Amino acid sequence: MSEFSTTDQQTLGGTTVQASGAPLFDDIEYTSLAWLQSMDMTPYDFPYINQLLVQGYRDWLQQGNGIPWIHEQCTAVFNFAGVRVAGKEEDDDEDLGLVERCCFSREIEVSQRKLRDGSPALVYMVPLLCRSHKREPFAALRFTRPARQLVPEPDTFLAAALHFRSCFYSKFEHKFIEDILSMRNRNDHEGRRRSILFQIVKRMHDKIDVEGVLDEVFDSIAYFFPYMDITLYMSQDRHSRNPQVKPLLLHERDDDVCVRAFMKGQMTVNEPVGTQNEVTEIGIPLRGKQGVYGVFHMTLPSGSDHMKKVDVELIAMMADTAGTAFENAKLLEQSNVLIHELRLINELVQRLNQSLKLNEVFEFAMQELLKMFMADYCCIVQLDQQESCYTVTSSNVELLRQHSYPRDDGLAGLVCKTGEPVIVSDYREGKISSQFMDLTGSLSLMAVPMKNNGTSRGVILLSSKLPNFFSYDNYKMLQMLAPHIGLAVTNAMLHAEVGRLANMDMLTGLYARHYVDQFIQQHQKKDFCGSLILVDIDQFKKVNDTYGHQTGDEILKSVSAIVRTETREEDVCARWGGEELAIYLPQLGVQQALQYAEKIRYCVQQETEPRVTVSCGIAEWNWLDEHISIESLFYRADMALYEAKNEGRNRTVIDHEANA
Ligand code: GH3
Ligand code: MG
Ligand code: MG
Repeated sequence: MSEFSTTDQQTLGGTTVQASGAPLFDDIEYTSLAWLQSMDMTPYDFPYINQLLVQGYRDWLQQGNGIPWIHEQCTAVFNFAGVRVAGKEEDDDEDLGLVERCCFSREIEVSQRKLRDGSPALVYMVPLLCRSHKREPFAALRFTRPARQLVPEPDTFLAAALHFRSCFYSKFEHKFIEDILSMRNRNDHEGRRRSILFQIVKRMHDKIDVEGVLDEVFDSIAYFFPYMDITLYMSQDRHSRNPQVKPLLLHERDDDVCVRAFMKGQMTVNEPVGTQNEVTEIGIPLRGKQGVYGVFHMTLPSGSDHMKKVDVELIAMMADTAGTAFENAKLLEQSNVLIHELRLINELVQRLNQSLKLNEVFEFAMQELLKMFMADYCCIVQLDQQESCYTVTSSNVELLRQHSYPRDDGLAGLVCKTGEPVIVSDYREGKISSQFMDLTGSLSLMAVPMKNNGTSRGVILLSSKLPNFFSYDNYKMLQMLAPHIGLAVTNAMLHAEVGRLANMDMLTGLYARHYVDQFIQQHQKKDFCGSLILVDIDQFKKVNDTYGHQTGDEILKSVSAIVRTETREEDVCARWGGEELAIYLPQLGVQQALQYAEKIRYCVQQETEPRVTVSCGIAEWNWLDEHISIESLFYRADMALYEAKNEGRNRTVIDHEANA
């Protein structure tokens, strides 16, 4: 009937068909219920017609109380198929024939029969016709009267049958009202449910943090199903403050409801098998577009009562919403983390690049790393040029600063060698020994290589006194930062190297001329005195002419090496130009410089092959000098050299002014 009634309600509900007859009350419009008035039996109603026939029959008997031939003992009602549904059993086969005949003819069928006690009787089978629908028969009513008694007119049976039809239709309409009411209740319930669901969806999507979404899910499910135990098993490494969130262990048994729900990405139900105390388990995946993040696990006491109350569809809808909201919140969280990391990297890189001084870069990197990771100790080590050992270039552990260790030593050695980062959550459990960890009493550590062109050039070590201090995110972050620090270190080193090369003479390995100029200038500002020796190889042109330029170069290199070894560490030796060298000796007067010059002259004569000699000119300045300019110093030294040449070469001459 519900299917039929829904259709009719939709078709007729809005029409202006007037209910037949005059309205009962002037102020009541029945227009909208016209469909109910014209409502009638159809084949759709046959499945439950028997029940209505029985109910109608009872009412009819009751209302006919007092009329001797309206009695259960002498009447019966048959459905359209000829099956007796209520009333006295007599001869079912014969009754079936009568029902068929009367339904076909739509007239009363009369027949004679012998009752069970053998007495003769007259049987009247009256067809029951629909109110509308071409007056189709839908049932039949049988009256049985003893043959010897006075039988009422057939019209009387017809009137009684009409009365029966009214009783039947009254039940039929009642059933309709019941249906409408239950439908309306269902709609109301559904409406309320949808409105709550809508609010839940809105609230979940309003939450922009993962924890907020999870709290909302639990609250919502608890609101709908307060008797249900619920836990969320998360597949990822997520720490939640919510005690209902636990890790999902995928190595659990295959028949675990959560594992199955997670693997299939579908709701899974484990029904209890027979025994009393078991519970029904439901696993619902927390699923977004990018994957399954976990499984809601619900248990409820077994028994149809509880199970009926579980609106599985609603839970699934809530889980779907939760999945999408969770994914959105998670993506937002991740992008925030990424933005934060990028900002940190950007700031660090910018500040690292502000300085090209190696020491400053190391110091700054160390301070920043300590701050960023809230570490207790930091140590940055660098491999030396020959890669035989590494040196601690920067550390907040005073004892380690500038210390060198063999290349394969300790944790730094291991990271350098393998090029792989290391994270130690509890040093006490580890197998690797580390002086850094021992000295500082640290328990957790992160160590990442600083690579240049794919090879490790150093290691960054960060430690904390607490165990399990660094998170996986910290570790990933440090890995991201290491190449930037490595690059800043390389840049600073290259810068220093370029500066060094710019001051060097390539052939002799001595300083270039402009460097001596700067050097003297700086020393004249703070020293009391200083001497300059100019060294010139004698008859060098001839050497070139005789042995060739290459040999000439070798001689020049040998003389330069002698000059370097025969002077002090603090003296600066430079190539002044051609085969002429300059030596500046800070804080020395001409007499002391003379000794050095003579030593050089002696050594050159002794050690060069082919043998050459040198002539030297010396000049000095002191704080009492009026003319302390570099130009005048060089001029005077050059004059002395000139004199040495003139006097026959292979000798040292001191500037006249100094002599005076
Ligand atoms: P003296 O100084 O004793 O007066 O004679 P000299 O022959 O050394 O003097 P001069 O200044 O006339 O010649 C210097 C020569 O040194 C000229 C040049 O061929 C040579 N010379 C300058 N620089 C180099 C160099 O880098 N390599 C070589 N092989 N020769 C050089
Ligand atoms: Mg010369
Ligand atoms: Mg010369």
